Amino acid sequence: MPFLLYTPPLIARNHPFHGGGPTNAAFSGTMPDEPFTHLCQPDSRKSCGACCGIYNYADSSREALAARLRRRTERFRNDVRDAADLPAFSGMIRAAEDQTRRYEVIFCCEYVGFLDGDEKKVGCLLHPAQNNGKDLREISFYGRELCAGHLCPSYSFLSRMEKLALIHVMEDWYLYGLCVTDVDLVKQYFRHLADLLGEIPPAERFREEPVRTIARRFFEFKLHWPFRSPEVNRFGRFYFDGAQHMIRPIDYGALGCERSGFDGIFLSLTSEFRTPDELKNAEDRIQRNITELAGALRASPDFR
Ligand code: SF4
Ligand code: SF4
Repeated sequence: MPFLLYTPPLIARNHPFHGGGPTNAAFSGTMPDEPFTHLCQPDSRKSCGACCGIYNYADSSREALAARLRRRTERFRNDVRDAADLPAFSGMIRAAEDQTRRYEVIFCCEYVGFLDGDEKKVGCLLHPAQNNGKDLREISFYGRELCAGHLCPSYSFLSRMEKLALIHVMEDWYLYGLCVTDVDLVKQYFRHLADLLGEIPPAERFREEPVRTIARRFFEFKLHWPFRSPEVNRFGRFYFDGAQHMIRPIDYGALGCERSGFDGIFLSLTSEFRTPDELKNAEDRIQRNITELAGALRASPDFR
């Protein structure tokens, strides 16, 4: 079971969200002259529901989350006609679903569901786009204003190129939500790539094959990284000690090795290495991917 959310922006009272159309006004996280990039609902193939707590359930595997979101969406569509129906819906969901969380300090909202019939997009069932224009978010744990206005750190810390490249590469809500919130993973990957290329590739190149597939294979390490720590309670590089978020560094000294140049990536992938060979193997996997990607980009007719 994979896992990560970038920093701890999701801790109880500090954390809201949004999930439907562009009703959110607080786009202040972007650079002043930069066109806004909607990370929450970027296109029709995927969306993110990370800050509503979907990855904080004890079982946050893709299958378990999809089943949870499917059931509650069906109940919402059947049972909720207006705001008066919401307390009963909330009580029913909370009674019917396993509420065990990875971290008690991170809230899991019962109003996240699938926004479309094809189950490609996750988001807020209370959003006006889901309720014939009626905004039902007032009843939520964070309240309408916070839910509508929240922008996670990825809005501020990812460059426009990083945001767009990630959006071009990602195809599904589950992996997208894990990666878009992992600022370090995204930035480290594109930094290593730019170092190798000697320049930052245009985001548009990430629409093309095989660039797209190669880059996606890197982000899929989030799901299948063979050196992922078996420790359950980690959100990527962070874990929680009570309400504090902490970083557990990789002990290279114990392996008799220097700090890896891929340390940032390894931390985001919650890596644990038992031997120097494992570390070397991990470095080779990352390096191979970046080298292959750089080769594919250089082969593109548009790349100078
Ligand atoms: S992109 Fe950020 S603000 Fe948007 S839903 Fe995901 S975590 Fe929340
Ligand atoms: S009410 Fe909607 S936007 Fe707010 S936390 Fe719940 S699902 Fe997210």
